[in-house]
Amino acid sequence: MITEDRPLNVVAVFAHPDDEAGALGTLANHSERGDNIYVVMLTHGENASSLKGTPEEIAKTREGHVSKIEEIIGAKYILMDIPDSGVTPSIENAKKLASIFKKLKPDIVITWGEYKTLGLGHPDHRYTHTITLDALSYARYKNNNDEHPPHREPVSLYTPIEGAGISDAGIIYIDVSPQFDKVMRCFDVYEEAYGQWPVRKYVVSEMSANGMFLGVEYAEVFKKILWRKARSYLD
Ligand SMILES: [Zn+2]
Repeated sequence: MITEDRPLNVVAVFAHPDDEAGALGTLANHSERGDNIYVVMLTHGENASSLKGTPEEIAKTREGHVSKIEEIIGAKYILMDIPDSGVTPSIENAKKLASIFKKLKPDIVITWGEYKTLGLGHPDHRYTHTITLDALSYARYKNNNDEHPPHREPVSLYTPIEGAGISDAGIIYIDVSPQFDKVMRCFDVYEEAYGQWPVRKYVVSEMSANGMFLGVEYAEVFKKILWRKARSYLD
């Protein structure tokens, strides 16, 4: 439970437009409570095998998708220029992202986990996790190339996870039942990019199975990796 009354800066960092499928309801939820929502994609997703056209044309299609998603969930998207399927956990990439963090001053960051499976475990996804962690460190320090000062406030870092009924420490369920229709509208936009992958079916079944464990209709699940602040109570 978040008790601050000021709007929070929530920054999701993923590799490709549509990667945020497991966090859309939560982002929409934060937007509805008045928080500032930013989604940073490290690439334009120009390698999508299910979309037709040259990489440049696909990049434009992806930009068109995210401008629709921005309106649906109330977020601002930033697409970086790292090549699709060329995301490497370099200092250079981490510093580029750190510069964005300094500007956006995140309270909360959501990013990919380190999946080892095919699909979810695309190297771009795993390296996005590493780059995000490194960028959170670099954002705390001066860099003369950066326009904005270091961001040294504590940040909560979350990663969306799969698996209903998980009771490990650090697992947090978000009730996204009221945002379900918005999530479905996002899938209407992204469907063509998923191609053969039945992503909508998969996400809906995960969301409803998660919801069953909580007594709500739909829920998204996150693992908390870094903690923002100490509390005087359990929640
Ligand atoms: Zn991806």
